[in-house]
Amino acid sequence: MKNILMIATGGTIASKETSGGLAPAISSDELLACVPEVAKACNVRAVQPFNLDSTNVYAPHWLKIARIIEENYADYDGFVVTHGTDTMAYTAAALSYLVQNIAKPVVLTGSQKSVYSRDTDARKNLSDAFLFCADGNAHGVRIVFDGSVILGTRAKKTRTRSFNAFSSIDFPAIAVMRDGKPFYYIEDAKPVGGPRFYHALNERVFVLKMIPGLNADIFDYLDSRCDGLVIESFGAGGLPNYQNDAFFTRLAKFVGAGKTAVLSTQAEHEGSSLDKYAVGRRLRACGNVLEARCMTLEAAVTKLMWILSFAEGEEAGKIFNTPIERDIF
Ligand code: ASP
Repeated sequence: MKNILMIATGGTIASKETSGGLAPAISSDELLACVPEVAKACNVRAVQPFNLDSTNVYAPHWLKIARIIEENYADYDGFVVTHGTDTMAYTAAALSYLVQNIAKPVVLTGSQKSVYSRDTDARKNLSDAFLFCADGNAHGVRIVFDGSVILGTRAKKTRTRSFNAFSSIDFPAIAVMRDGKPFYYIEDAKPVGGPRFYHALNERVFVLKMIPGLNADIFDYLDSRCDGLVIESFGAGGLPNYQNDAFFTRLAKFVGAGKTAVLSTQAEHEGSSLDKYAVGRRLRACGNVLEARCMTLEAAVTKLMWILSFAEGEEAGKIFNTPIERDIF
């Protein structure tokens, strides 16, 4: 039987009703007791580094989870991370950069309803996550949710209530779980050469969501506070040239200072394409402005945090454009 380490971190799956609303309060052992079928498929040991609503989970927590995986990598066949759904896609993307080239699976799951709700999705998601993790072909960072197996770099929470909370953006789910068994649509060979673990993230990354008429003075704030900027622009991508072309000037100044800017789109599907329209193509003249293309926002943000912890300028751009776990095409 496979040996799996469960890393329980909180979320709705581990929540109980309190006077102030749902809050994480259920331990990893209590969660495991709700899925007795898992014990027939694998041996599980559990750790609980924190028990948080995932609204409160960010870079230090991602580093902590990655560190637990690294320290236990040799002793376990796979890892199941239980997590709140709200920021699970960020954690999955961050782990895809912090824990690379792994021939073992890291499977994130959670639920829309507490494990103790009568009509919960928690038991199925939890049991699917362990059964997928115990499968001999599973490897890499994946989200298992509502029967879908989604790459950690392609997941997005797209629903706040329905059980199919996650979508795989512009890339198919790699497998579905049927009666506790994975059916693969895409079967990648396991990577060779051993895992690579990283230990730092640069949190000075900001996302600027454009709205019509936004004032470019926002750069007064951003210039001194961030090293990386993801601009969610409109449609295929571009920036307005009103206000005396201030966005162009300020962006050129930002990247001219050695910082990294990525143009992405607010449209959920099909990615950016800066060269299509004049409002986009002219940004090429700003200097080192990167393009998110088909990357999810979650992947673009966490990839920048990872890269900017050890590189800057053109080197950062080269790494950003290098695909990792099918994050960019
Ligand atoms: N607020 C919860 C969380 O992300 C939502 C959930 O788990 O579904 O922790």
